Amino acid sequence: MKGVQSTCMLTETLVPHATRQAQPVLSFELARELGARYGTPLLVVSRPKLIETYNKMREYLPGVEMFYAAKANPDHHILSTLCEQGCSVDVCSFGELQAAVRAGFAPDRMLHTHPCKTESNLLDCYEYGVRWFVYDNMLELEKMARLTPDVNLLLRLAVSASSSMINLSAKFGAALPEALGLVRAARRQGMRVRGFSFHVGSQCLNPEDYRTALSRIREVWDRCADDGIELEVLDIGGGFPAPYRTDAPSIESFCQSIHSGLEDVFGDLPIRLIAEPGRGMCAESVSLITRVIGKNTRWDMPWYIIDDGLYGSFSGKVFDHIDYSILAENADSRELYPCVLAGPTCDSSDVVSRDQMMPDLEVGEILLVPSMGAYTSASACPFNGLPVANSIAID
Ligand SMILES: *Cc1c(COP(=O)(O)O)cnc(C)c1O
Repeated sequence: MKGVQSTCMLTETLVPHATRQAQPVLSFELARELGARYGTPLLVVSRPKLIETYNKMREYLPGVEMFYAAKANPDHHILSTLCEQGCSVDVCSFGELQAAVRAGFAPDRMLHTHPCKTESNLLDCYEYGVRWFVYDNMLELEKMARLTPDVNLLLRLAVSASSSMINLSAKFGAALPEALGLVRAARRQGMRVRGFSFHVGSQCLNPEDYRTALSRIREVWDRCADDGIELEVLDIGGGFPAPYRTDAPSIESFCQSIHSGLEDVFGDLPIRLIAEPGRGMCAESVSLITRVIGKNTRWDMPWYIIDDGLYGSFSGKVFDHIDYSILAENADSRELYPCVLAGPTCDSSDVVSRDQMMPDLEVGEILLVPSMGAYTSASACPFNGLPVANSIAID
């Protein structure tokens, strides 16, 4: 695009759209050492990378409090590192709350964001001391008015997701025309609605989606103000993207765009701003070490069986629709061939990649998979009696 200038590109030249690539957090040399010491498959959490990401988000989203979405990865190393850094946490269940507590979070640094909770989920978290909750419908409001009337509420609003890979407004969030009625209903029942939350959708690739959502939400905000309802909190949710086989916008440029959207649309109000990054916070700080455990030639194609697959850390390929890049050592200087990389279970659909070129891999050889932190181990299961990957942290 260099050298091309036209008026419609003006904003692009003002805000640099720098991108970032998926990079492993450790060398093959260290991976071999750790693999030998701890066994494979092994998830390696880089604490420095996680802290760097957290600090960048705070720097480029000034004034926005970070509530890490534990759903993306409730791993102890991740939660405890973020807790030490002063981050807060977004939980959706008592199980996530317990993981956060083990990592050191007190309930006053927790926000419960599930808009449709079982009574026991609600009561267990309430009894532990959580006082900030989310709702998006009348029945949820009645449930909370009956069981936990003194909590602070955020009303989750649905926004039309456009550039995101995973639409999170398809299932949750009140339609904007219903918002005022839901806030009034809360007031009638003596409940305190403190503000709004939304989620543009996960793996959002265009930060302008936030500005679109913010503008529409500002209209609802003002309608509430006209009705005498004072709101004070705006929660912009998650959606921050990570690089996989396709690059992602840099944290700096992505957050800067959101920041300017917030300034333009809500800058005149002295409100508390919250974000709930899950993927964007943790994805890049984890790399997977997996090992080739067998090979075969099937229909003239090399097949490699590796020790992690779709039921394990690659479950994100199924549930999160992500295509991970798989790296072999010294791939630059070895001849590459088409091949199939398959997971270790007896399910023939357990195939991790059919379209990534690999050198002639040895049995026992180690492969590295970057950006394995979000929606990977969180959704893994020990199908076939094969244990899920262990995780360790490095400094
Ligand atoms: C999943 C989720 C998040 C995290 O989303 P990411 O896209 O991973 O940042 C944040 N808030 C809520 C309510 C969620 O459901």
